[in-house]
Amino acid sequence: MCGFIGVIGADDAVREVYDGLVAIQHRGQDAAGIITYDGGRFHVKKGEGLVRDIFTTANVERLKGSVALGHVRYPTVGSGGGEDAQPFTVNFPFGIAMAHNGNVANYDELKGELEHASLRILYSGCDVEVILNVFAGALARASNGTFSLAAYHEAVREVYRTVRGAYSVVGFVAGHGLFAFRDRFGIKPIALGRRVGPGGTSYAVASESVVLSAIDYELLPPGPPGEALFVGVDGTVDVTTIAEADHHPCVFEFVYFARPDSYLEGISVDAARVRMGERLARRFRASGGSADVVVPIPDSARTAALAMAQALGIPYREGLVKNRYVGRTFIMPSDGERKRSVRQKLNAIEEVFRGKDVLLVDDSIVRGNTSRQIVHLARTAGARRVLFASMSPPLVHPCVYGIDMSTRREFVARDRTHEEVARAIGADAVIYQTLDDLVGAAIEGTPRLARMCTACFSGSYPTGDITPEMLLQIEHERIAQAR
Ligand code: SF4
Repeated sequence: MCGFIGVIGADDAVREVYDGLVAIQHRGQDAAGIITYDGGRFHVKKGEGLVRDIFTTANVERLKGSVALGHVRYPTVGSGGGEDAQPFTVNFPFGIAMAHNGNVANYDELKGELEHASLRILYSGCDVEVILNVFAGALARASNGTFSLAAYHEAVREVYRTVRGAYSVVGFVAGHGLFAFRDRFGIKPIALGRRVGPGGTSYAVASESVVLSAIDYELLPPGPPGEALFVGVDGTVDVTTIAEADHHPCVFEFVYFARPDSYLEGISVDAARVRMGERLARRFRASGGSADVVVPIPDSARTAALAMAQALGIPYREGLVKNRYVGRTFIMPSDGERKRSVRQKLNAIEEVFRGKDVLLVDDSIVRGNTSRQIVHLARTAGARRVLFASMSPPLVHPCVYGIDMSTRREFVARDRTHEEVARAIGADAVIYQTLDDLVGAAIEGTPRLARMCTACFSGSYPTGDITPEMLLQIEHERIAQAR
């Protein structure tokens, strides 16, 4: 999971990109970067850490131009240092900058081809560099020395032909315009916005709509995946279908990744989480469960927990207080860091827990380490019984599309019954959302979205090209990274 934004046509593109990155800091806290183009040259600033720590007034003022890209990184392939921060550039043809959100499943194969057949050397272990080089090579071959939309379309077509996995991409061709596309499965979100002002019309592309509202852009209706967008420096907009869509947006974006004030595929994330809570309440009631108080595990479970409490007629209390200056545990790169940060991050209010049957609500149960520590926190605070509800079904399969969830053997729900999961995390019972209810809650009232990516729950990878060897390789990479 990463976040990006691209802006073209704004007088001060870098300030909009900076504000946009702050709005999607939740999508990656590992590194960030901004690149601009002023008509003559690129200006770039990248670094490790949070946006506010990397960019100073002085280095933002240096990033001149009316086209800019920004990125916040959550590491997938190549969780390296500053050299792996996006965006990336190539100087041929024309000068291209690019950033992405996603994961290239055949990264090693493509890297080998680029190095041996195309005699290109990659600077980093970041998979967007592979997409960028495939794109640049195809653009050079199709351009014949002059940039054209047809050549751009051919470059996107070549990316679709060769790059496996899931990716949303934003970039610009120096002196020509801003582009964006995502693979035909549309697993990764993308949002397009426009602002009409006295100085003209500017456009922005981002990985979450909240960015567009943060910088005051009008959100445009989402297009199907498989389309390639190009906004020329003269303000002309071209949207061309390159591949037939087979849309499967990531259901976990609705559960956890996206901010509740975002719209994904035109659907309010907040409304989807309310429906998840209502459906989970029905399930809890049907199982004969009862509790004295519903307590959310902040932040992403709040909306669903409140809806669940209202549907059950049980008091809702914020019994766990979060220290907001500690990063999200799920997107911390190593398990050791995750474990340390849970206790720093959460503290229990004893009055909420003492002598009560407590229903904790979380977005998911991944490895179980965090859940176990939170259950322990609730018991230490005096809870009589601790029930644990998960907004999503058991996670049992790895994500190959850019989410560093786990290797198969790390999932606490793998080869365990619900009762065994409850024992593993120290709870009296766990209540899982069913997959049908999760998907139904996410897309209710949106018939055009009949299918979603649910691979981490179902094992069914929508791109159809994920082989057991790829799964094994990804597992080895994750294990090596965790060491
Ligand atoms: S496998 Fe899970 S986390 Fe990954 S894209 Fe699919 S639904 Fe999202």
